[in-house]
Amino acid sequence: MNPILTPTRLSLARKRRGMTLVQLSQATGISVRSLSAYEHGRQRPGPETLQELARALDMPVGFLLASDVEEIPVDAISFRAITKLPASTRDMARSAGRIALLLSEWIEQRFELPEPDVPSLPRLDPETAAEVVRARWGLGEAPIPHMLRLLEAHGVRVYSLAEECATVDAFSLFWNGAPYIFLNTAKSGERGRFDAAHELGHLVLHSEHRVPHGPEAEQEANRFAAAFLMPRSGVLAQQLVNATVDRVLAGKQVWRVAAMALTHRLHDLGLITDWGYRTLCVNLSRLGYRRGEPGGIPRETSQLLDKVFRALRADGITPATIAADLNITVEELNQHVFGLVPVGLPGGATTRSRRRDRPPLSLVP
Ligand SMILES: [Zn+2]
Repeated sequence: MNPILTPTRLSLARKRRGMTLVQLSQATGISVRSLSAYEHGRQRPGPETLQELARALDMPVGFLLASDVEEIPVDAISFRAITKLPASTRDMARSAGRIALLLSEWIEQRFELPEPDVPSLPRLDPETAAEVVRARWGLGEAPIPHMLRLLEAHGVRVYSLAEECATVDAFSLFWNGAPYIFLNTAKSGERGRFDAAHELGHLVLHSEHRVPHGPEAEQEANRFAAAFLMPRSGVLAQQLVNATVDRVLAGKQVWRVAAMALTHRLHDLGLITDWGYRTLCVNLSRLGYRRGEPGGIPRETSQLLDKVFRALRADGITPATIAADLNITVEELNQHVFGLVPVGLPGGATTRSRRRDRPPLSLVP
């Protein structure tokens, strides 16, 4: 029997590669009309055409034949700077995210992950919402030592944005009741934490109905992030009134945030004047704190994925096995966990993975 293309898989692979139908047509010599007919299930490609498609899309043929996949709806994601992002980049980020969800489903069939514990608080202002989540998670007014561990311990699944989607800062969504955050893992440790808190803000404030897009939602998520990472009463207790550059640089170590983010927060809380804010910004800029974070903290990694991959390896299940199960390449698999596990996943011989009892993962926040 001939292998049968799954139409949604072709569309997913094409978007993952950032290709339009025209570009795929140019890469394969197959007409746009035929490609469109394949994607809509009106026509089926023969075995040779399937091989050609898989080659052009750099995916194993098996990926195109595997079970039907439901796309992540466009409305499910709030992208930052949406007006600047071409549709093809957004499609690429959505489809890369969808492949990460396949990996996540694979992991969840084998491990019992922490239960999602992200409240939906769409009617609260960002500052109050951040305080409510802090209280619910028992954080008091203390700095958050490790943002990703905290999120994972409360059931948030964290994956890496694929390399080609670097212009997308980060995005988040609920999928089958579980919260997901996709991070650009090439940023500084401080920016990574802020992005993670920003996406938590979207999950808490904006996920109940249709996700609101645009600058207002982005600003709300930023305000949530600032309040979550630098809680009002905790910052007020630090005697940062009219703070100097030195005080800001000391304070940023405490809250593990960017110097500019703390400066902004001090201004919002009325601890520095407009004039003081501008002066600090100029001085920090001169010291290199606008473009980067000199002497910054290391990027946070995923405790959950690290434990999962270690446990799998102990069972003889290599990344190559996982990739084969998912009908993707090891390189593709790496893209979704890059920067979140300490080193790139090595390949290794393929062994059949066996289904096992799902051991619970104990995560330390
Ligand atoms: Zn956002």
